[in-house]
Amino acid sequence: MILAMDIGGTKLALGVAGRDDFAKTGRLARIIKEPVPPPGTPEVVIPRLLTMSRELLGGDGVRLSAIGISIGGPLDHVSGTVVNFPHLPGWINVPLAGRMAAELGAPAALDNDANLGALAEHRWGGWEVHDMVYLTISTGIGGGIIVGGKLLHGIGSAAGEVGHITVQTGGPRCPCGNRGCLEMMASGTSTARRAREALEASPGDGAILRRLAGDDPGMITSALVLRAAHEGDRLAAEIWEGTAEYIAIGVGSIIHILAPQIVVLGGGVAQAGEYLLEPVRRRLRDHGTYMPLGRIRIEGARLGHDSALIGAATLALGN
Ligand SMILES: [Zn+2]
Repeated sequence: MILAMDIGGTKLALGVAGRDDFAKTGRLARIIKEPVPPPGTPEVVIPRLLTMSRELLGGDGVRLSAIGISIGGPLDHVSGTVVNFPHLPGWINVPLAGRMAAELGAPAALDNDANLGALAEHRWGGWEVHDMVYLTISTGIGGGIIVGGKLLHGIGSAAGEVGHITVQTGGPRCPCGNRGCLEMMASGTSTARRAREALEASPGDGAILRRLAGDDPGMITSALVLRAAHEGDRLAAEIWEGTAEYIAIGVGSIIHILAPQIVVLGGGVAQAGEYLLEPVRRRLRDHGTYMPLGRIRIEGARLGHDSALIGAATLALGN
């Protein structure tokens, strides 16, 4: 069997599969999910993961051959150490892969959720390419780069942090310390924030968006902005178009450096499908002629919510 773990800011997900079955199908036989136990420190989460693993594997006689682990935030994939997982307390320099390997008696590997989403999309998305850049656009923006069929990690596993490309000089401050990062302009959270700011600046506009949000700006989400744009709200349409524009600026920078065969957009915001892909493609065409856009596909992810978990299982297979 192989075991996959995905540690998120709010939930834990584990999956198992027979090694040969997974290598053929990319499907996990069983998946379990539960909320992160409070207070979310390694001292409570790791024992809980071990208990969940043992339950999922089902007692004696099961041979566990490998473990793959997904977590967000800076890590060292070579040593299997979580450097800093900012969404939960106390996750600083945790040798997570080594700990899991010792407790469960099988080799363990660790990588970040966006890299593993990229790995899963590359291996199981049916794209048949060697070079892919994957962006996951949800509350934040992450990315993974596949070159020649392999994940590109760079020094300190820091490659592919596409959410921190600068797309707006002097823009809002990002937790990373920079200003105007792609994540601060085009994530779901940032799209909602830009919509709130626009409503505040133009009290006479955005009537449909205001109504959809029940006159509570705190209820605005990127999905609501898109819906209001569909219903003819001009302010919401401009905000959504801005999201596409910032993503196009980020993707354009990526294409100028890597010229991958495909850029795959995943995550909650990308579930808008063509409503996001079309304006991103259109704006990319406006941005320059050095990009061989006729030969670079911009597509939506084919794997759903469990892509990081499937990527973790793919990592356990040995890539
Ligand atoms: Zn940043």
